Amino acid sequence: MAKARRKARNVVYAGRIKVPYAWSVGATGSRFLTALRDDQEIWGVKCPKCKRVYVYPIKNCGECFVPTEQWVKVANVGTLESFTVVHYKHDMQPRKRPLIYGLVKLDGTDGALLHLIGGVEPAKIKLGMRMKAVFARQRAGSILDIQHFAPA
Ligand SMILES: [Zn+2]
Repeated sequence: MAKARRKARNVVYAGRIKVPYAWSVGATGSRFLTALRDDQEIWGVKCPKCKRVYVYPIKNCGECFVPTEQWVKVANVGTLESFTVVHYKHDMQPRKRPLIYGLVKLDGTDGALLHLIGGVEPAKIKLGMRMKAVFARQRAGSILDIQHFAPA
């Protein structure tokens, strides 16, 4: 009886699953990624009401909720607004450590693009640095077609 009333602690099994998958990025994401891959250009969408420019592009303005159907080519340079240096090893990381993730506010856009920072030692990174997109030589239609952002 005592055993039946014993509170069991939640048992957690830490495993690892690798599952191949395919995920559609939709029409908006496809146009954005195709421009990265084929033209090495960064495009965003502009809200017709509040005039915000979104990169990554989104179908509807996050403030006004109206469709954002106007595509605008944006600068491939911007300002580093935040960053973090990652030292831990994980299979999901796209590059060897230490890797640096940063938020780059591209000129003429609102918000910031989360991406890898490269071409600079972690200790030399400063907020407010001007950054430029460096495109990968081999592009496949993914966000990693921008290899990283490096100091401009
Ligand atoms: Zn808006």
